Amino acid sequence: MVRGGQDVRSLPNDALLTPSARDFLRDIEGNGVYKHQNSEAPKPIPAKISSKSSKADLDAFFRTPEIQQLKAEICEVGRRLWQRAYVDGNGGNIAVRVGEDIALCTPTLVSKGFMKPDDICLVDLEGNQFCGNKKRTSEILMHLQIMKRQPRAVATVHCHPPHATAFAVAGVEPPSCMIPEIEVFIGRVPIAPYRTPGTPEMGKLVADLVEQHNTVLMGNHGAVSWSHVSVEDAYFKMEILEAYCRTVWVASQLGQPLKTFTPHQLQDLLNIKQTLGIPDPRIGLKECELCDNNEWRPGVSCATPNGQISRSPSTDPQAEDMVQRITDMIMERMGK
Ligand SMILES: [Zn+2]
Repeated sequence: MVRGGQDVRSLPNDALLTPSARDFLRDIEGNGVYKHQNSEAPKPIPAKISSKSSKADLDAFFRTPEIQQLKAEICEVGRRLWQRAYVDGNGGNIAVRVGEDIALCTPTLVSKGFMKPDDICLVDLEGNQFCGNKKRTSEILMHLQIMKRQPRAVATVHCHPPHATAFAVAGVEPPSCMIPEIEVFIGRVPIAPYRTPGTPEMGKLVADLVEQHNTVLMGNHGAVSWSHVSVEDAYFKMEILEAYCRTVWVASQLGQPLKTFTPHQLQDLLNIKQTLGIPDPRIGLKECELCDNNEWRPGVSCATPNGQISRSPSTDPQAEDMVQRITDMIMERMGK
């Protein structure tokens, strides 16, 4: 069905699934992208509550079973972030939109590994806090700026996974065309320039990138992702990004140039991505532009028109300089 461009969501309820088809569906479900009709449907969130609602209504809303469930999910994602060492000290934060202009978020000065549902706060998209025993995180402003800029974002996760953060510190965008998972569920991961955490400027630089990208590296800081599905789905993007950066880093130590799959093979992945309803700014690009890896070594770039692919290994400036000096010396000796 996927190869034929059909939507797997149109799969009939009584379809007989082969083991590999079942694995495929489970993988997609695991990433929160697709729910088979047999699985439990996500619980709807009451939409009529907003920042304009009365304090009593907001308080009652804050204690509904649906919201209690979301608070528990936020705590569970926090626990996984801490267990995987994606957060340190009181770092990292999580937000879930629960109405047109209100969101649940994590508190300040609490380890993400040990939060309780009662620690979660309710804020509007300006960061004004309405409910919760603890004070909201100062970094929430970035999450809210993402939600304002990207209306599809229902949840955001920010953390400091070490390998992904290392790429952000080095200013190296993770290369593409190496592992399918990141291409399908994330795509390109741009780096927002560093600004002081918690400031509106930092939030703006990140928000500038979320119309096109669901995961962004933050220069000299960490990473943030948003999901149109759930907080767990936003968290999965962090697992995928961190595993990818760790793998590419280890692979780059093995003494061999890293192999990439071809633009044509990436196109196949983008077709699957389209079927899953995940946007990617590369959909519709010329095939030869798909595996541009200019910042990676050796870089692959496609600047040539007429479908010719130019592969230009990015050269070491020191080596280039030495070659130039040796050439000059030889030319000098030859009396030119
Ligand atoms: Zn941070």
